[in-house]
Amino acid sequence: MNPRERLRIAVQKSGRLSEPAFDLLDRCGLRFRRSRDGLFCFGEGEPIDLLLVRDDDIPGLIAQGVCELGIVGRNVLDEFSRGTDAGPELQAMRGLGFGHCRLAIAVPQERAYDGPASLAGLRLATSYPNLLRDWLRRHAVQADVVTLAGSVEIAPRLGTADAICDLVQSGATLLANQLREVDRVLDSEAVLVRAAQLPADGRADVVELLLRRIEGVTRVRGSRLLLLQAARDCVEAVIAALPGSPRPTVLQMDGQPGQVMLQALCPDELGWRQLEEIQRAGARELFVLPVERALA
Ligand code: ATP
Ligand code: ZN
Repeated sequence: MNPRERLRIAVQKSGRLSEPAFDLLDRCGLRFRRSRDGLFCFGEGEPIDLLLVRDDDIPGLIAQGVCELGIVGRNVLDEFSRGTDAGPELQAMRGLGFGHCRLAIAVPQERAYDGPASLAGLRLATSYPNLLRDWLRRHAVQADVVTLAGSVEIAPRLGTADAICDLVQSGATLLANQLREVDRVLDSEAVLVRAAQLPADGRADVVELLLRRIEGVTRVRGSRLLLLQAARDCVEAVIAALPGSPRPTVLQMDGQPGQVMLQALCPDELGWRQLEEIQRAGARELFVLPVERALA
């Protein structure tokens, strides 16, 4: 394959999204060799290379055609899209199930909050001015947006803002800064982003291949395959005891007309209590198997 036909994916070099992104690509069967300068990872099997960059640069690199795909927080993608004409050149393909956080409004603990109107006339510090302005506009609130590159949470204590709009995951940082979360601007997770226009060469096929593998990994992440046997008359009760209402496959057992074997893909771990409940409903010979990948 012509070297230009290799697919390039932009991934955060070091930060919250790096490890889960590498883990996802690893589960997709991709192996890489890092370049000396740490900017690239060259794919060893499939024609896929990685570009390791700051997360904020990822949407721009895709819009400029430097990369065809990227893994980035929806917060960064949406902030970029709202601040530029290049928005339509990007397309979020799917959530990846990690990097969950929210872009939230927080005020000093002692400040009253009665909905967005309480922010009128205040100075709001944020690293997401486009998303915040958009949210304020939708709520018809006039406030001052103070754009900061980082350390947004200390702005109220420094007196440079009255409230903030920042990413929150557990809320511990807010608490440590005597702030309380009062409203939500955006729910975010890591997403796979692609260039709306892919080059008309082999790269479009590689995108398809990768997407199928990502589907196969994320769809079954955390799932377990449950195998069990049961008397035919207990099957309904056993199915009712399965968590997450999966649609199990019921198989006839050779030479045992009154018995069936049942297999079900369950959406979570299946702890001992759940298993014991399924057993009480009439199941025996229960096996719980991890599921690594799926191909429809
Ligand atoms: P870079 O050096 O690449 O610019 P960064 O400091 O901007 O790194 P990180 O703190 O690693 O980025 O966050 C990357 C992404 O992780 C965020 O854009 C967001 O999508 C997600 N994220 C998940 N939880 C949090 C959180 N509690 N705080 C900040 N980001 C979070
Ligand atoms: Zn960043």
